[in-house]
Amino acid sequence: MSQILNYLKENESNILDTLLRLTKAESPSHNKVLVDQCGEILRNEYESFIGHEVECIEKESVGNQYKFTYSNNSESEQLLVIGHMDTVWDEGALPIKQDGDLLYGPGVFDMKGGLTITLWALKALKEFNYFGSKKIVFLVTSDEEIGSAHSKDLIIQEAKRSRAVFVPESSIEPDGAVKTERKGAGKFLLKVEGISSHAGINAWDGASAIEELAYQIIDLKKLANRDEGISINVGVVSGGTRSNVIAKEAVAEIDVRITKKDQAEVIQNQILNRPQFIAGTNIEITGEIERFPLERNEQVVELYEVFKEIAANHGYDLKEGSSGGASDGNFTSGIGVPTIDGLGPLGGGAHNESEHVYISNLPYRAALLAEALLKYMK
Ligand SMILES: [Zn+2]
Repeated sequence: MSQILNYLKENESNILDTLLRLTKAESPSHNKVLVDQCGEILRNEYESFIGHEVECIEKESVGNQYKFTYSNNSESEQLLVIGHMDTVWDEGALPIKQDGDLLYGPGVFDMKGGLTITLWALKALKEFNYFGSKKIVFLVTSDEEIGSAHSKDLIIQEAKRSRAVFVPESSIEPDGAVKTERKGAGKFLLKVEGISSHAGINAWDGASAIEELAYQIIDLKKLANRDEGISINVGVVSGGTRSNVIAKEAVAEIDVRITKKDQAEVIQNQILNRPQFIAGTNIEITGEIERFPLERNEQVVELYEVFKEIAANHGYDLKEGSSGGASDGNFTSGIGVPTIDGLGPLGGGAHNESEHVYISNLPYRAALLAEALLKYMK
């Protein structure tokens, strides 16, 4: 068995301790105080494991972010591991509980498990004094679950300097497949302004914002294309005041997913340039494709093959798959840097109450990442 895997298996209970410390420090994206506390724990963990090169990037409205650098001199080339410490869970919303080999709790799978794996992968490399010609930058942000507006530039800046990007986000259920493909995503807001009037006395004088919005929704859905992997969801609508008033205002929130980079501009233009259906209404639409897809290109397949081979040496078959969800890996892939995602723990239930990881598998995922980093670091 590999030296690294052996070492990590011996440390299974310590790995669990790290994950518990990070999970107990609950960190809903919108609560800066809590996210900062979680960041402190992460920082302490890294410093006690590796000891050096920690940069805290202070943020005003979201949690502070961290750049950890693993290196024994000042190599210029780098590998990048990206993660986020914020979760979708409000404080106290989800209890932490252990049931046999399963650990349940807020963010254990998405993605404090991934942070834990990365910390321990680096600790294992340090343990055996493995350094190479490239440094490893571990970038941990604080707003991934709310769109990464406060970290996107930083992620792209670090990715530009990197030979490859590794994303220990949650893996694909149930067998822990890694993600070699992710959809791109965009959000749009459609506002309609109509002309209000009395629904009885002046029934024909108004212009209903709600009616216009209804036509818009039907028309928008026509842009979806299952075969091409383009989906459109109008997830929130609101409008009107009373049943006897012709609605002056109506609003829709729209989510768009794409699978190819070149679909982005086309779909964006189609959404932003809407036809009008009801005379007298006014349409205003804002938004954009925020994340390009992570496309399964040759470079990504090459990365996957490396991971697959390491897994085979550890005695299991590592599968690959695609995800409809976007992650910060979409940014790095979007600028052409080879990116492999879904390297996080074996588990399931991201963003729902069954969120869990398999404890005894944590050493395997940490060893997988450690050995891949070792290979690319040389
Ligand atoms: Zn995540």
